[in-house]
Amino acid sequence: FEPWNEPSETPLIAFDGVTKRFGRFKAVDDLSLAIYRREFHALLGPSGCGKSTLLRIMAGFEEPSEGDVRLDGQSLLGMPPHRRPVNMMFQSYALFPHMDVAANIAFGLKQDGMAKSEREDRVAEMLKLVKLDGFASRKPQQLSGGQQQRVALARSLAKRPKVLLLDEPLGALDKKLREETQFELMDLQQEMHLTFLIVTHDQEEAMTMADRISVMRDGRIVQVATPEIIYEAPATRYVADFIGSVNILEGAVEDSRNGMTRIAAKAGATIEAESGLDMTPGETVFFAIRPEKLRLSRRAPADEQLNALRGEVWDIAYLGDMTLFNVKLASGDIVRAATLNAARGSDEPIGYDEEVWLTFPADAGIVLGR
Ligand code: ATP
Repeated sequence: FEPWNEPSETPLIAFDGVTKRFGRFKAVDDLSLAIYRREFHALLGPSGCGKSTLLRIMAGFEEPSEGDVRLDGQSLLGMPPHRRPVNMMFQSYALFPHMDVAANIAFGLKQDGMAKSEREDRVAEMLKLVKLDGFASRKPQQLSGGQQQRVALARSLAKRPKVLLLDEPLGALDKKLREETQFELMDLQQEMHLTFLIVTHDQEEAMTMADRISVMRDGRIVQVATPEIIYEAPATRYVADFIGSVNILEGAVEDSRNGMTRIAAKAGATIEAESGLDMTPGETVFFAIRPEKLRLSRRAPADEQLNALRGEVWDIAYLGDMTLFNVKLASGDIVRAATLNAARGSDEPIGYDEEVWLTFPADAGIVLGR
């Protein structure tokens, strides 16, 4: 995979051993993370893992119980939110209903004492940026959800923050609008040379937009990497499971050397997989393989003993671009394969209850410890 090279510059944002306690509960637990200029960074994790708390600490709405938060090498501790060169955009947008669009966007600028003419220029610039020219005198309730989202974005960018913090910014939009807006946000971030730190529990959203993703669990970061590495080389079973769809087969190591591990899978197959680690024979491991990496066929492979699973088609889901097949093995395990419909060719489509083989090369999956 394309490696990610850590820049030599000082990180723009540095969380350094940050812990946040609410009573005895640790919402963030000794977390360190460096984010660089112009990076689009996503904090991804299930509800309650501490993503929003981390963002709120950056914004200054919460102080960490321990640790430091730095921007450009300077500690932000004790600095009130409005003095920090960061801005936060909320899922609810938090627009003022009684103010028109222009007044909403100008609100922070006015508080900062910016002169009226300069303010007006900035508002016009922001409206153009978010493609809302001509909407200046509308009230928020006269706008669609997507337009409200743009106003909130314009407002949070108006002060030209160094960092924009986005807490589930697209959560209130429907799927189609959300997908369009994802690309617009990416374009905007590049145009303005800004650093974005976004919180989301939507893995597709994080994969689409982010340069790097931090996958969080219980107040800690489990893995920080590019979307490709997170998907192709998840560090743990949790990450593999959280991102996309994955089959996890449990087994015991038979042999492991020279980057190759042979596993006796409980599902009744021998798996030979490339693996960065040499593992101890007898050790319990998990073999994770994505549905699209499995080859589905009626024909038995040349070697039925290795990297081959036999089963019957249990469920089929046609998704337009691809079809999902849930295949039930003799062990009772269900393994999912995904095939691209465009690549189907002229063969009779595989149907329910058919006996099929699922095969895969040694480099198609990944061996994970407990
Ligand atoms: P979500 O996506 O649901 O917002 P999250 O990952 O952003 O989840 P946080 O909002 O950061 O999670 O919350 C992390 C944990 O800290 C949760 O268990 C939450 O209940 C707890 N928590 C957050 N704020 C407070 C608070 N002010 N007082 C007590 N507990 C809190």
